[in-house]
Amino acid sequence: MEASNQASPFLGQPKKESVADCIGATPLVRLNRLPATLGIKAQVYAKLEYLNAGGSVKDRIAKRMVEKAERDGKIKPGDTLIEASSGNTGIAIALMAAIKGYKCIITLSEKMSLEKERVLKALGARVVRTPAGVPIDSPDSILSVARRLQQETPNSFILNQYTNAENPAAHEFGTAEELWYQTEGRVNIVISGAGTGGTVTGTARGLKKHSKNVLIVAVDPLGSILAQPEGLNEFKAEYKVEGIGYDFVPQVLDQAEPDLWIKTSDRDSFRYARSLVREEGLLCGGSSGATVAALVQLMEAHPELNVEDKLVVVILPDSLRNYLTTFANDDWMEEHGYNDLE
Ligand code: PMP
Repeated sequence: MEASNQASPFLGQPKKESVADCIGATPLVRLNRLPATLGIKAQVYAKLEYLNAGGSVKDRIAKRMVEKAERDGKIKPGDTLIEASSGNTGIAIALMAAIKGYKCIITLSEKMSLEKERVLKALGARVVRTPAGVPIDSPDSILSVARRLQQETPNSFILNQYTNAENPAAHEFGTAEELWYQTEGRVNIVISGAGTGGTVTGTARGLKKHSKNVLIVAVDPLGSILAQPEGLNEFKAEYKVEGIGYDFVPQVLDQAEPDLWIKTSDRDSFRYARSLVREEGLLCGGSSGATVAALVQLMEAHPELNVEDKLVVVILPDSLRNYLTTFANDDWMEEHGYNDLE
């Protein structure tokens, strides 16, 4: 038997009471190869949100929204949680539902990957697919169908990530604090995608309390309408990247909170997501690649930021697990005209 008088490195890593305790406090990891390939001199760190228990940044908000609704007496185990989602919030709520004994129904657009549906079903959720590309006020949209299901289902509740203040709060009091302390207050720039906008709005609010000088950059795909100023959104197209961008402005998104908005293409998002996997070993999703696409644009437009003493954080919201049949697959890349990319 090995014996030692030295303190064990496992001290301070106590057992967890449920997997909900494995949400938040995610690692911040330096990128060592990709920035050099891209001509980026600034120090770039990635916040690995895919290491949350359910595999995405949305675990943070699901945990907070469920716990708050329980404290307020709005829900109790046995009830049904219904949510409209691009997949990750659905998975996160289904995970909390599994732990706590709720039933769960998730409305999910046909656009979203099969992998997300499989994970949801494995967690015991019912998945109701809705047509892709329908306007949000259509009766067939994820939000309308969720509302209809709620009326039909006794003892059901919609936590509603689009309006729930616990969504940005999870980032204001969680993600932002972690970034401040993990960088010992040295963070200069944070780049985050916007879907509901909870991550970027909350992270901006939290970090600006520590320092007004942190530059917050929000990322919106070409074809979405979240960016400011409005003129950035003129390009109309469908986009394939999942989890960021909408055709309406969610209530929890404060478009004025980020200092800068950058629009990104599918092509760059998938290219850089694959680079993050291949050059850094970071098993992330397509919206993670969008943050690197925005980083490249930012450094081109502002060479004064591209210096060694600047510390940039990119937030990697979810995992390659969600995209094994899409951009992680060479055949899919070829079918979608990306066969020239690595
Ligand atoms: N990327 C992915 C893959 C997501 O699922 C989401 C959540 N919709 C985001 C980014 C954006 O997060 P938020 O909703 O906090 O803006």
